[in-house]
Amino acid sequence: MSKVKCEICPWSCALEEGERGFCGVRGNIKGKIVNVNYGFLAVACLDPIEKKPLKMFMPGSKILSIGANGCNMRCPHCQNFGFSMAAQEEIEMMDTNPEEVVNTALSLKTQGNIGIAFTYNEPVTMYDFMLDTAKLSKEQGLINVMVTNGMINEEPLRKLLPYFDAMNIDLKYFNDEGYKKIGGRLDTVKRSIEIASESCHVEITWLAVPGENDSPEEVEKAAAWLAGINPEIPLHISRFFPMYKVLDKKPTDTDLMTEMKAAAGKHLKNIFLGNI
Ligand code: SF4
Repeated sequence: MSKVKCEICPWSCALEEGERGFCGVRGNIKGKIVNVNYGFLAVACLDPIEKKPLKMFMPGSKILSIGANGCNMRCPHCQNFGFSMAAQEEIEMMDTNPEEVVNTALSLKTQGNIGIAFTYNEPVTMYDFMLDTAKLSKEQGLINVMVTNGMINEEPLRKLLPYFDAMNIDLKYFNDEGYKKIGGRLDTVKRSIEIASESCHVEITWLAVPGENDSPEEVEKAAAWLAGINPEIPLHISRFFPMYKVLDKKPTDTDLMTEMKAAAGKHLKNIFLGNI
């Protein structure tokens, strides 16, 4: 039987019947690429919007934050590996559907909920469920947020954008070699940031991993590029803590984070230090 290609992200997985892609959650079922984890959620909770992190978008509000399993990158220090790297059968998951998630979001308005954030694992890998849910949510006047690594092809990203109000996009390195190590592509992430910035509020997260991407010079280069899109774009320099396969490094030096902030501040106006 011929293979069918998934067009969601640059991995372009060509899959035979019954096979799953690199992310582990999209697969070829009867000749069609679908989310095999459609409707299954590993986590759903009402979080402050600042936790996404979004500092300059509806501050003080709360948002129903949902996530499943699956990721299309392989960061050895993943802060959410319990969900992102788990197979469906390895974790307890809620069996739900877009209508139910939107109804839950609406019912939480009395507790200050503004909408739905697709987060925790990589939401690009739960694309079908995210798009269906975001459409319904928008019809009900809710806010949609995506917290993503930006590893998504242009066409599927453009299809999502009419339904999204804000995104936080990770920038993990500002060089190709770094991205290669973790299964990502800098050119794709840069393009996602540029395209998303055209139509919704965008904030950037830079998780500063010691010895990997914690040099003030590298973050300054990234900041200079971001300033070319918009010097007001918020940049979160976030502190690393030992996690998943990287347990031998110390948490990021906070003095170095202050230096990184100063370097990025030569180009950007809104820089926040996180997890300190
Ligand atoms: S979303 Fe998953 S299946 Fe599709 S191309 Fe990316 S890694 Fe492969």
